[in-house]
Amino acid sequence: MAYRVTFIPGDGTGPEVSEAARRVLEATGVKFEWDIQLAGADVMDQFGTPLPPQVVESIRKNGVALKGPITTPVGSGFRSVNVEMRKALDLYVNLRPAKSYPGVRSRYQNIDLVIVRENTEDLYAGIEFQKDTPEAEKLRRSIQELSGKEIRPHSGISIKPISVEGTQRIVRYAFEYARREGRKKVTAVHKANIMKYSDGLFLEVAREVATAYPDIEFEDRIVDNMTMQLVQKPELYDVLVCPNLYGDILSDLCAGLVGGLGVAPGANIGERAALFEPVHGSAPKYKGQNKVNPTATILSGMLMLRHLGERGAADRLEQAVAGVIAEGKYVTYDFKERPDDLSAVGTKEMAEAIIRKLQ
Ligand code: NAD
Repeated sequence: MAYRVTFIPGDGTGPEVSEAARRVLEATGVKFEWDIQLAGADVMDQFGTPLPPQVVESIRKNGVALKGPITTPVGSGFRSVNVEMRKALDLYVNLRPAKSYPGVRSRYQNIDLVIVRENTEDLYAGIEFQKDTPEAEKLRRSIQELSGKEIRPHSGISIKPISVEGTQRIVRYAFEYARREGRKKVTAVHKANIMKYSDGLFLEVAREVATAYPDIEFEDRIVDNMTMQLVQKPELYDVLVCPNLYGDILSDLCAGLVGGLGVAPGANIGERAALFEPVHGSAPKYKGQNKVNPTATILSGMLMLRHLGERGAADRLEQAVAGVIAEGKYVTYDFKERPDDLSAVGTKEMAEAIIRKLQ
């Protein structure tokens, strides 16, 4: 039976990397029926919005989507399509593995970390008050009344909500993921010593959830210490579960540990739908040049195969990608010592080399 998957090519260099991933996924032998849906800057004229409702409907119906990056037009009045999609589908998990592949230039080797980032709460809830507005003034007065503490005049205010339910589901996901993927340890990241009622709650709930998983080790780290530890001894860590903001920062740090954006896959997962996409953006300056690295999108496809339960195909795909990177012959410019190295191949050619390994 073929898996029906929503396929969103994206814009900028999105169509090039997502097409490469689609071809590689088909070469694994797993059968797909692609439900192609257009979103982003290129469809704004046609539909009047960068996120036509049929796109979200399609993901809801199919439950799985593979997506190329989408540009967030600056100053157009449209919010990020990516953020809107995550909200509309309640994709509360942002899964970001960071793994070393021999052949990728990086300061570290043998890293195999996974960041499980909460995707809906925290300072990203979008509850903000602009300085000097009547709302900000009212809030400032209420806060003074309720807490006895004064916020200085002319302050902008961003609200950081962290809920019991939101924390339970993200921490549970981290433990379930650890169990399913044979991982040994979950580390909760927080700043509970300072933010007792938001990060403190996160830590307390994480400890409670951890008791249901005695087979997986649990520990916690304060976020500043965590950043230092990740730079000094990343090999000590396995799965990190984080509130939204720390997850955002740490996942880029971890991408940096393993060689950067070109190799960083991602997934946004909810109860009823999962959307797989690279961490990088649409790199519009390279649009149409068959130049950018398809690895992050292909590895996002590998995560999708695992999510679908196609573990054998996922393993073979990962080995094929690792093989091509290790050989270093059919790789894009960003894998080379110098970006103008003439032996670099294009997006398509790198995907074809991976496909040859799968045959
Ligand atoms: P970007 O990731 O698109 O590009 C930054 C730089 O990284 C590029 O100039 C390029 O040098 C390099 N790069 C990125 N991807 C690469 C690849 N696959 N291979 C080789 N090099 C690569 O980030 P940006 O310029 O900040 O964002 C461009 C647009 O993408 C913005 O509109 C942003 O909002 C959007 N964006 C979308 C997503 C998403 O769809 N999930 C994520 C991030 C950014």
